[in-house]
Order: sequence, then C-alpha cells, then structure tokens
Amino acid sequence: MSVRLEARGITVVPEGARHPILTNATVSLHGGEVHALVGPNGAGKSTLFGVLAGDIRPTEGDVDLDEAPLGDRRARDLARVRAVLLQQNAVSFPFTVTQVVEMGRAPWVRTEHAADDDEIVRRALTDTDVAHLAHRTLPSLSGGERARVALARVLAQSTDILLLDEPTAALDLRHQEEVLAIARRRAADGAAVAVVLHDLNAALSTADRVTLLADGRTVATGHPADVLTARRIEDVYDQPVDVFPHPVTGVPVVTARRPSGS
Ligand code: ADP
Ligand code: MG
Repeated sequence: MSVRLEARGITVVPEGARHPILTNATVSLHGGEVHALVGPNGAGKSTLFGVLAGDIRPTEGDVDLDEAPLGDRRARDLARVRAVLLQQNAVSFPFTVTQVVEMGRAPWVRTEHAADDDEIVRRALTDTDVAHLAHRTLPSLSGGERARVALARVLAQSTDILLLDEPTAALDLRHQEEVLAIARRRAADGAAVAVVLHDLNAALSTADRVTLLADGRTVATGHPADVLTARRIEDVYDQPVDVFPHPVTGVPVVTARRPSGS
C-alpha cells in the first residue's frame, strides 16, 4: 500500500533545550496498515507523533503527507485527513460525552458530509462502548471511560490517517482488545493507523509494522517479529525478557524475566 505520511531525518531540539529529543528519526505510515510505535518512556514517541501530526515543527527533517510537504497544508485540510489522539486527552469542562464526540465533526461543518454527523457520532459512541454514557459529563467519568470518549471523538473525525498515542493505556483487557480491533478495522478499510503501545505483545499480535524508538532515535523498523527480538528488547529496555512462540498462534510472546522462587 502507498505511503501516506512520512517523517524523514527528524531532529527536534525544543526551545531553550541543549539536547535534541529526536535525532534523525524516520517513520513511514502506509495505507491499509497498523503501525505500532514502541519504546521506553521518554524515547520521543509522543514528540514524533506531534511532528507527524504537524503540531510540532522539527528543527531538521521533512514530513510529507501524500508526497507533498505537510507544512503546506492548511489546518482545516489537515483536520479532514488526519486525526490525533493525544496522550493527554484533557477535556475537563463539563461537556457531555455526546458533545465531546460531536466536536470531532467540526472539520466537516458546512460540507456535504455534515449530513452524516448523527450516524457517525452514534457509531463512534457504540464502537468505543460509551453509548450508555452519552448524557454523562466528562468530569463524572472514570479514567478509562474518558479515554474511550477521547477515542470516539477522534474516530468521529472520519479521517483515513489516525495517530493514536497510547489509546489502550487506561483500559481494561476487553476494552484494550476492542481498541486494537478498531485500529485493525480502520486499516482494513484502507486507513493508515499509527499507534503508540507499551504492550509489546499487542504490537506483535496486531501490528503490520513496528518502529522501535529509543533515546530519540529510530532503532529498527519492519515486521514486528523482526524488530522485537529478545536481544533488542533487552538492550533498549534494559530488562531481561523471554520470547517464545505462542502455543496456538505461533506469534512471539514477550515476558519480563523474574527471579524464580520469588
Ligand atoms: P515518549 O512519548 O516516548 O514517552 P516524549 O516524546 O513525550 O516521550 O518525550 C521525549 C523526551 O523529551 C522526554 O525525556 C521528555 O521529557 C522530553 N521533552 C518533551 N518535550 C520537551 C520540551 N518541550 N522541552 C524539553 N524536553 C522535552
Ligand atoms: Mg508519550
């Protein structure tokens, strides 16, 4: 499938900082794929997402959207092409769940697509399992419920590029699986879906491609099982692991090695 969004040779030195937080990082998002971005805390994943989204201007490097410079796009155009779930999705005003998800439709106001608003909002609420909370206000929700509402808003934006920063972090097992299934479905429909994950097993079992980031650099990118080898994981995370094939699926499974007998 075609490359939709590509960041090449990205270096970011924040204003006033002495050291780059990204150094020569490169990532390509392809239509029809789920691309997992993994790496330790502070590796630069959210910063790289900010660059891909067009929200952070890199100090060096190029970002292309559909083979043209991302910086040439107007904000309104961009909002119709890519949607971003931020790691901090802090809507703390007392809006209702429905109102928040409706905000996702803002880029389509006064277009023919606005006719679909109600149906799209309804589906986003259902897909993220928050329809039963539709009339509740945001501050009254649990962390996991709030995270699902934030995702619903992003889905309602109806873009075919999705950047999801830790969408599963606050979620229970079933809701994690549902979010991964949504990412897979969107990719099956042709979207380019990038997702920051800490769960390496989720990356191994659901991503088409993985990019591993460490210390602001892209360490490896490619097929999940090729990127996430025991040796590389141990090196990057400084944590001994065991990697073995899942007895049913054969997909590699990663577990942290714990001292036996304790
Ligand atoms: P990740 O999402 O992989 O955990 P981030 O991209 O959020 O990492 O941050 C990468 C590193 O850059 C972190 O050490 C963070 O503290 C630092 N950082 C992020 N933004 C800034 C900034 N504006 N100024 C200085 N340091 C920053
Ligand atoms: Mg982050």
